[in-house]
Amino acid sequence: MGRLFGTFGVRGIVNENITSEFALKIGMAFGTLLKKEQPNKELWVVVGRDTRVSGEMLENALISGLLSVGVNVIKVGIAPTPAIQFACRYFKTDGGVSITASHNPPEYNGIKLLEANGLGLKKEREAVVEDIYFNEDFERVKWNEIGRLEERDIIRPYIDTIKSRVDVDVIKRRKPFVVVDASNGAGSLTLPYLLEELGCKVVSINAHPDGHFPARNPEPNEENLRGFMKIVKALGADLGVAQDGDADRSVFIDEKGNFIQGDKTFALVVKAMLEENKGGLIVTTIATSHIIDEIAKQYNGKVLKTKVGDLIVSRALLEHNGLVGGEENGGVIFPDFVLGRDGAMTTAKIIEIFAKSGKKFSELLEELPKFYQLKTKRHVKGDRKAIVAKVAELAAERYEIDTTDGTKILFEDGWVLVRASGTEPIIRIFAEARSEEKSKEYLNLGLSLLDEALKS
Ligand code: MG
Repeated sequence: MGRLFGTFGVRGIVNENITSEFALKIGMAFGTLLKKEQPNKELWVVVGRDTRVSGEMLENALISGLLSVGVNVIKVGIAPTPAIQFACRYFKTDGGVSITASHNPPEYNGIKLLEANGLGLKKEREAVVEDIYFNEDFERVKWNEIGRLEERDIIRPYIDTIKSRVDVDVIKRRKPFVVVDASNGAGSLTLPYLLEELGCKVVSINAHPDGHFPARNPEPNEENLRGFMKIVKALGADLGVAQDGDADRSVFIDEKGNFIQGDKTFALVVKAMLEENKGGLIVTTIATSHIIDEIAKQYNGKVLKTKVGDLIVSRALLEHNGLVGGEENGGVIFPDFVLGRDGAMTTAKIIEIFAKSGKKFSELLEELPKFYQLKTKRHVKGDRKAIVAKVAELAAERYEIDTTDGTKILFEDGWVLVRASGTEPIIRIFAEARSEEKSKEYLNLGLSLLDEALKS
């Protein structure tokens, strides 16, 4: 991790560490990086934001910084992060900026810098931005070389491109009834309209942009969606879909009101895309369900497993020419469209799969290979990475292990992963097996190895 940037961008509390001065300087530093790399080129950067109250303040400051070093700006206003990533490719810019704190509470905001292809900025380039920022090595231009600002719409091209990637006729014939919860975030501007244009019957809630997030916490987990789950069932909808604040993730509710884990919807997409393409490379992380492995085996796919993190998965997809990628927390990556998780594209694909199947959503999910997952965590003191390394040492004596990220112990019929949190004093334990009993057994094994490691 850098001095400013975390795993993907910088985040913090507005007017404490994320201030307008900070955004101004990041704009100047990013623009200076681009100019140093390509001094003779006319440079363009796309800038967009989610619905947070502080979005406009930070956007204005950041744009001002870019213009002051002679970089031109396309301002797209409020848009999902994947739409901003798409805009980099669509407008053929030299980079992009998404002003968002994703699923964090309303007092937070953040800045994600993007490559010309829309992918999160490379670590090496981020480090140069940090150098320029801390040394204040900004390349201000003369008054008559200041950048130009253009305002353009990306919402319409984004929706239209998604529509062109699915079978709209098949959806129109079935006319699925979908309830949408946009969390008052950036997806408010895209998801209800996309679904309606795909031919769905749409009821939307929390779909007016409001950066106070009055209805619910923008993290779309089961706890925050309890009310929504009841609504989906009570309305007799075919399914429900809920997004996070910047709409890169979509999570689904079946017609019975059940919360569906992200790796199951990812599995449905993987299955459909492997069938359509007669095979391909799937990229996911080592923490994702082996449902994916099982489906890949059945449909002529290969699976590449990376460390945890959507940016890592996106980079691997680009590097290895992967077909589709994803994680367990919702939001599938379609690399030929957007090099990042895309909640709207994920939703369109799921709706297409649902419409084609003629089945109920819960029936489709029932058909997936059965695995039982258990998760727990332990609060620990001291060096988390060292503790997890000790677990690896202990486990390696007795089992087959994988240390791509944390310590994963592999069995014939399941696995357990012991992994340090990147940000909190926590070690997480994930277990998965074909029966609930076995899954419990593997979870307990992970816990006992952790205890042993803590004692030694
Ligand atoms: Mg997000």
